[in-house]
Amino acid sequence: MNIQRASQNSLLGSLHFFFPKECVHCGRLLDYRNREYLCPACEKLITQVCQPLCDRCGRPLSGEIEYSFDCPACRENPPRFRRARSAFLLIGPGKSLVLKYKYSSNPYLSAPAINRIFKTGGEEYWWSDYDLIIPVPLHPRKARERGFNQSGVLAHGLSRRTGIKLSRKGLVRTRYTGTQTRLSRKDRRKNVKGAFRVSEGADLNGKSVLLVDDVYTTGATVNECANVLMEAGVVRVDVLTLARAG
Ligand SMILES: [Zn+2]
Ligand SMILES: [Zn+2]
Repeated sequence: MNIQRASQNSLLGSLHFFFPKECVHCGRLLDYRNREYLCPACEKLITQVCQPLCDRCGRPLSGEIEYSFDCPACRENPPRFRRARSAFLLIGPGKSLVLKYKYSSNPYLSAPAINRIFKTGGEEYWWSDYDLIIPVPLHPRKARERGFNQSGVLAHGLSRRTGIKLSRKGLVRTRYTGTQTRLSRKDRRKNVKGAFRVSEGADLNGKSVLLVDDVYTTGATVNECANVLMEAGVVRVDVLTLARAG
């Protein structure tokens, strides 16, 4: 161990003494070198989103499927994006990780979140397919309330890892939509209709876009974003989110 590493470790060790690192799910005290913010037991309970999935929206399906399959919701209302994929399900420790990441000001939690979304993106998509990474924007008021845009942090991390250009302000939210937690699928679609626009001067014509958000619920928000982007001349939108609810 070199001197620099040794002093770094002792600094981390003493920080750990004052600010103990806890598992975001069960609260168990963690080794200060743990970068995932989950204890090994909770780590094992993270539910990865894996095949079989709806080819379009990435909804997990039951049973065996040998060919690509679109779920009934996608067949009824085909989404404007080509595909959506998520790293893990919004249950158990995965849910704790997302909630802590979303609502705490602990910037260290963004590293494990970026690691996970980067891994899933690399497995599900070809990075070379995209010209731009665009985060789902928060309304400026909500961003002020929360202190940061969690999708923006994920998108920035992905852009740094992949070298794909980040368009932080290509898409803007024009309407404060409030929380959608209690709304039905249909009401969510209505709620986000017209809530986004492409910023003036953003050159999106002919571009292929990877749209990034923290949670995919009914897909209403990312679908509306994809709709606005396609209207602005974008040729393809794929969606990548950290977690998936339902
Ligand atoms: Zn734990
Ligand atoms: Zn689907």
